[in-house]
Amino acid sequence: MLDKLRIVLIGTSHPGNIGGTARAMHNMGLADLVLVAPRCEVYGSESHARASGADVLVSNAKVYATLEEAVGDCTFVVGASARVRHLPWPMLTPRALGERLPSECAPEAAQAALVFGREDSGMTNGELQRCHAHVHIPTNPDFSSLNLAAAVQVLAYECRIAALGAEDSPDTPFGVEWDNPPASHDDLERFFDHLERTLIEIDFHDPDNPRQLMARLRRLFMRSHIDSMEMNILRGILGAVNKQSRALARQENHDGNG
Ligand code: SAH
Repeated sequence: MLDKLRIVLIGTSHPGNIGGTARAMHNMGLADLVLVAPRCEVYGSESHARASGADVLVSNAKVYATLEEAVGDCTFVVGASARVRHLPWPMLTPRALGERLPSECAPEAAQAALVFGREDSGMTNGELQRCHAHVHIPTNPDFSSLNLAAAVQVLAYECRIAALGAEDSPDTPFGVEWDNPPASHDDLERFFDHLERTLIEIDFHDPDNPRQLMARLRRLFMRSHIDSMEMNILRGILGAVNKQSRALARQENHDGNG
């Protein structure tokens, strides 16, 4: 299970936090570290010094320009944030996150990611809205934000405890597997893109006055944890809607001209 868990750091600005994260991960048996658009040197002496022995995780860390690339293959993405959002996202406690991981990681194609924000500004709403859930470490409300590597440590610990507890028990109740693999982040993003274009096409959605329509629809679909067969059905429905609305538009054009 721990081998299917990736740690993603967005826009990190202190190399010491990259090293500290590598150390926290290695202590807890995690190895897959990914950095999105880091704002500091990644492979330099400062990050290696803080990694103290976990240098290999820093050397092996992959760097991507966008969150989409970092989690494109992921089937379960959780964002860590100290802040409650205006549009609340499905929330998990660190313990509940650990408890969910064994079943989330059970399918063969499963890949999970825990995403962390910038030291100064955390994660944007748009970034959090690309996650299935929001994990919050219950801290002192008057001083809620942990150091980045410390936050990684707390969550990695919970995941390790859950993994140790899951060793002797089946990954899913009754050991029954779901019938279809989960949809990946890439599949979901293509679906949201198609959904938005279709809603514009049928005049349901006005991109000049978007309000929070797409964020709310994202939240709905993220909550339901779509599998790949359901994804195909939804894309098929959108395709049929596109076909009908285009046929109607042609018909109206034809009638109008004739
Ligand atoms: N000032 C930032 C916090 C940055 S701390 C803000 O207002 O959002 C850097 C990162 O550590 C956060 O983006 C988050 O991923 C993680 N983190 C820190 N404290 C946390 C907490 N209490 N719960 C969950 N994640 C936390």
